[in-house]
Amino acid sequence: MSEKTNLLDLDRDQLAAFLKGIGENSFRSQQLFKWIHQRGIVDLNLMTDLSKSLRDKLGELVTIKVPKFGHENRSHDGTLKWLFPVDNANSVEAVFIPEKGRGTLCVSSQAGCALECAFCATGREGFNRNLKVSEIIGQLWLAQNRFPQSDGSFARLDGVDASRPVSNVVLMGMGEPLTNYDNVVHAVRIMLDDFAYGLSRRRVTVSTSGIVPNIDRLREDCPVSLAVSLHAPNDELRSKIVPINKKYPIADLMEACKRYTDSSQGEVMSGVKWQRRGSPRDFVTFEYIMLDGVNDLAEHARQLIDVTRGVPCKFNLIPFNPFNDSGFTRSSPQAVSNFQKILMHAGLVTTVRKTRGDDIAGACGQLAGQVKSRRTPRRNVNPTVTTSI
Ligand code: SAH
Ligand code: SF4
Repeated sequence: MSEKTNLLDLDRDQLAAFLKGIGENSFRSQQLFKWIHQRGIVDLNLMTDLSKSLRDKLGELVTIKVPKFGHENRSHDGTLKWLFPVDNANSVEAVFIPEKGRGTLCVSSQAGCALECAFCATGREGFNRNLKVSEIIGQLWLAQNRFPQSDGSFARLDGVDASRPVSNVVLMGMGEPLTNYDNVVHAVRIMLDDFAYGLSRRRVTVSTSGIVPNIDRLREDCPVSLAVSLHAPNDELRSKIVPINKKYPIADLMEACKRYTDSSQGEVMSGVKWQRRGSPRDFVTFEYIMLDGVNDLAEHARQLIDVTRGVPCKFNLIPFNPFNDSGFTRSSPQAVSNFQKILMHAGLVTTVRKTRGDDIAGACGQLAGQVKSRRTPRRNVNPTVTTSI
């Protein structure tokens, strides 16, 4: 018997097509979406506005399976890190960052990552597999509907939309979202869908190390906020610390960023309330990790101004978050401040990221989950580098 379809793997267009395919009214997708994503109900029998016969029929064909919740770690600053075992060999992590007036969920897109950036714990672990749509959207489902408690139980929040804790989603957890393109796009569509989470495209950010062709596809398929992990101002240095640069060098990446912010292009997504106003974002955010003595000198800042000329952008300087045997150290606050001043002086809006959750290895680039890589461990790898939960 073929495996049942997990409704959490489908965006609403796909669910409508599925319903049509089994001879049902595709508009039922709206009701199902509200039950699953807004009310957090995964038991078909509780979906009382669906007929008993439809519920029975669906019961034969589908399942609604959310990821298992493994563990919660809480930082002194309120940041929460959640571990989700996605199969027998892999766990992935999501990080929730509560702040006044907003809550940001940092979501993983892959178990591990194949791109081997030199300063990243996830990259060190290697790649195991892409996450399914249900495993990506499931991180948001769990955060919104059943806040995991430290004892492993789930507390329901008060239910009303206003109390939903997650106002922003960033795909900055484990993995490179644009190498798990299709699943990420379907999951992001669910995030934006008014019958599901209804987040605006400005509140959903895809972070990429620079997969140029898929930046262009994202522009067409699902233009949300884009963060690009630049980290170096010239190809020689960038290829060393972000090896994907050898395939997609800085000049090509900058052209892709210009296209992404070009308001003369643009497509409308189907099935999602969407304002067609041209560009997905007026600017790209360049993330720049500050590595002591490696990429944090004044000359690097000046080169950055040159290479990003003509790209509508902002800069976010990220203090390096250390992990075992990384081989790098964090730039001094003075170096970060000097770097910021040079960029600001050239008219570039430049912020410095607050480090959150670093005491629970929940900060950017520290997520390592429990990935069992099928590959040979890389040089310089401490095999015990997993999250200390
Ligand atoms: N693969 C995507 C998204 C996940 S990484 C990307 O590279 O953009 C999210 C961000 O964390 C990226 O900007 C990444 O460069 C940064 N990062 C990785 N390791 C880090 C570390 N040790 N300290 C601080 N930031 C790190
Ligand atoms: Fe992968 Fe991003 Fe880490 Fe690079 S920084 S190894 S692309 S997760």
